[in-house]
Amino acid sequence: MSKAKDFLHQIVEEDLKSGKYKEVHTRFPPEPNGFPHIGHAKSIVINFGLARDYNGKCNLRMDDTDPTKEDPKYVKALQEAVEWLGFDRGEKTYYTSDYFPKLYEYAVELIKMGKAYVDSVDEETMRELRGTVTEPGRRSEYAKRSVEENLDLFERMKKGEFADGEHVLRAKIDMSSPNMKMRDPILYRIRNVAHYRVGDEWHIYPMYDFAHCLSDYIEGITHSICTLEFENNRDIYDWVIDTLGLPPPRPYQHEFARLAMTYTVMSKRKLLELVESGVVSGWDDPRLPTIAGYKRRGYTPESILTFCEQIGVAKANSMVDVAQLEFCIRDDLNKKAPRVMAVLEPLKVTIENYEGSELLEAPYYPHDVAKEGSRKLPFSKEIYIERSDFEENPPKGYYRLTPKQPVRLKHAYIIECTEVIKDSEGNIVELKAKYYPNSKSGEDTSGIKVKSAIQWVDAKEAKRVEVRLYDRLYKVEAPEGMEDLNPDSLKVIKGALVEPAVVTEKPDKRLQFERYGYFYMDPVDYSDEHPVFNKIVGLKDSWAKKKAPQKPQAKAQPKPKKEPKTPQESGEFAQMSQEEQSRFEEYQKEYGLNAQTANILARDQQLAKLFSETLKHLDKPVAVANIVTNDVARELKEKSLEELKFTPAAIAELVAMVEEGTISSKIAKEVFEELSSSGKSPKAIVQERGLVQISDPAVIVPIIDDVIAKNPENVKKYKEGNSRLFGFFVGQVLKATGGKANPQVVNKLLQERL
Ligand code: ATP
Ligand code: MG
Repeated sequence: MSKAKDFLHQIVEEDLKSGKYKEVHTRFPPEPNGFPHIGHAKSIVINFGLARDYNGKCNLRMDDTDPTKEDPKYVKALQEAVEWLGFDRGEKTYYTSDYFPKLYEYAVELIKMGKAYVDSVDEETMRELRGTVTEPGRRSEYAKRSVEENLDLFERMKKGEFADGEHVLRAKIDMSSPNMKMRDPILYRIRNVAHYRVGDEWHIYPMYDFAHCLSDYIEGITHSICTLEFENNRDIYDWVIDTLGLPPPRPYQHEFARLAMTYTVMSKRKLLELVESGVVSGWDDPRLPTIAGYKRRGYTPESILTFCEQIGVAKANSMVDVAQLEFCIRDDLNKKAPRVMAVLEPLKVTIENYEGSELLEAPYYPHDVAKEGSRKLPFSKEIYIERSDFEENPPKGYYRLTPKQPVRLKHAYIIECTEVIKDSEGNIVELKAKYYPNSKSGEDTSGIKVKSAIQWVDAKEAKRVEVRLYDRLYKVEAPEGMEDLNPDSLKVIKGALVEPAVVTEKPDKRLQFERYGYFYMDPVDYSDEHPVFNKIVGLKDSWAKKKAPQKPQAKAQPKPKKEPKTPQESGEFAQMSQEEQSRFEEYQKEYGLNAQTANILARDQQLAKLFSETLKHLDKPVAVANIVTNDVARELKEKSLEELKFTPAAIAELVAMVEEGTISSKIAKEVFEELSSSGKSPKAIVQERGLVQISDPAVIVPIIDDVIAKNPENVKKYKEGNSRLFGFFVGQVLKATGGKANPQVVNKLLQERL
């Protein structure tokens, strides 16, 4: 299905089509004065993404023209960020500082043309002479200097004969321009400071407005993409290149909206303050929005790329909800992370009628039948459960263990509390319990009804680990400073317990601790002697409900110029209205939708309407919501509701075919694509194209045998115990059938044949 193209993709595509450029060439041009953050990720995805999408090039360029704040450690962090996000940054890193000699030549040329002059007024006079938005400015008398005098002064500025601030080089443009930026902008200033790369060779440094356009030109950049606050600088960009009469092809500047996110500060100055004040442990503190921070916390590059894709590229600034980013990582790990058991605040339980010990088999991916892998859970008389999973005087609706209510130990038995043991102060220190031998998970014949299953670990075999519970760094939506910090953004638990496989087998670096959330082996502090886990994200958004009364949006964010038509259009999310919030909750409660799906529907009336219309034909809310918020939403990005070729009844027909097993969900995507372009009925499409799911073993078995015959190496490894390869075989068989084989059947048959 073709994805709606953002305006930058459209521009690039047109420029290639019209022959303006043979190849697209972008650049990502950070200043190495801090670690890159999620806003930079957006820019990286845009610039490197365009190059990748159109077979072009993208340069990583250090915009290092301010010697006072720059440092090689930031260069390294920027290089690593691009790589970690999965882009090819090439062999070479580019530096504006490499162009200092060339830029100097260009400046001399402008002076010779009478288009630049050395000004020597003090800062205050310069400001006065500049005028205001309503009043034109005036040139200083120094603008009358001769070319010779300007050349002489400029050369001496370069050699270090003057103090900082004594002179500047300015472009001679127009002191009465309505664009204030065009009132003779400064091109060079004196800085008697050594540069981290070129040492003390230079005493003058070029300004952004001069260096940027020319660096782009020198590198052969075609599309110079920057954030909206540079819109007024575009005139200078063009003036410099045009005035110098540089031969084509030349670059053009295009602006997009920078990313701003709730509960987050993104300015490098503010991040530096957090690092230097020790509020956080360093640039890679897992609470920071830096790429290094996300990486250390356990975010996957994929989740960040998905986020960047979802928020899209727009021309109007707006605030993205940080929950959107959290959705992305949760969604990614939900598919990938093995489920294991951990107990953060242990309460001992002695099962008095259990003797000896046993190993219980438990799958790592109980949520995904196609994924193999399991571990052994040691079980014996003494276990630990989570303290909060027992209540002596339970409130109404408490489903876990109480003196009167039995509970299931996940993957194990049902237990019942027989005695509560307390210390002299009345604190519960231990529980005595009995278990039901015939209630074992998977072979339960006890007939006992329980309302929930809780996690546990075996007292003898469990491993002690440190768990770092990270939460949002700020407690308000639009944080301004230190006073808005969340005092509970980090909680360290030293005595948490995990089942042994977590640290012995290490099935993955990222794990789901059942019922808590996703955790990551801290890449810096983890060792076998002292395992440390970082909380990546909880299983659900714990902030959705407890949102405090709103502060106004961050001051720095100008109001969007134009409201986007639907949230899907720009992908940017604002605060929900009361009505949206109540729909959001209803979708989750009434229809069992997950938060992300409910979020999309609650905010979009068109989709919500389609959803409810479709439900009239087929009562499968979760499946219907999925197709509406994914496939239909994508269509609606490009078309209006009237233009859609399909009806709610057709969507229902398609979903029903998946639910009945007639077609696989993968094939459903294909059918949807045709449905939305031709408007034919899904049943007709499936019939015509022979897409019916294959469940017949007589058809599948020969394909399986073929796959087995073609991959003797993997078969050998699988048979030697590498059970993870099972997924490989499933994938091969599905591929061989064009995705038409029924995965459940493939699973079963493969198990038999291997
Ligand atoms: P900050 O204000 O955080 O210091 P900056 O714009 O000064 O950021 P640079 O290192 O100069 O940071 O920016 C490098 C590139 O990243 C620029 O092209 C800039 O437009 C882009 N960029 C920076 N912040 C964001 C953001 N929040 N959203 C999107 N792009 C951004
Ligand atoms: Mg900057």
